[in-house]
Amino acid sequence: MPTIFSKIVAGEIPADIVYQDERVTAFKDIHPLAPVHILIIPNKEIATVDDVSPEDEATLGHLFVVAKEVARKLGIAESGYRLIINCKGDGGQEVFHLHLHLLGGKKLGSMLAKS
Ligand code: 5GP
Repeated sequence: MPTIFSKIVAGEIPADIVYQDERVTAFKDIHPLAPVHILIIPNKEIATVDDVSPEDEATLGHLFVVAKEVARKLGIAESGYRLIINCKGDGGQEVFHLHLHLLGGKKLGSMLAKS
């Protein structure tokens, strides 16, 4: 069964897409945690980082090139930003279609919440 993100790639459900090419799609997170919160995903459905294979290397490298370009386009390249990939339960992953969170537009604080 396709993930909700695969349906976004296919245009079957709406999303605010900021970039798309034959390998990746970038769109605004529906519940943004920062002034800029973009999800960048491979169009190919890869469930988690734990499912990555060597043939995905070029696509996954491309995610970072697109992240840099989207950050510049959205005006946060100079001020800085954070890239996050969650993996499985303890990593906090909710949607099992690998995605890079691009967060910025404010000071993001420490890496993890101190408990
Ligand atoms: P995860 O916790 O899996 O790393 O992050 C999943 C992210 O996907 C969350 O930040 C959540 O707000 C976002 N999200 C979930 N469903 C949708 C959706 O239908 N559309 C968009 N644009 N974002 C979604």
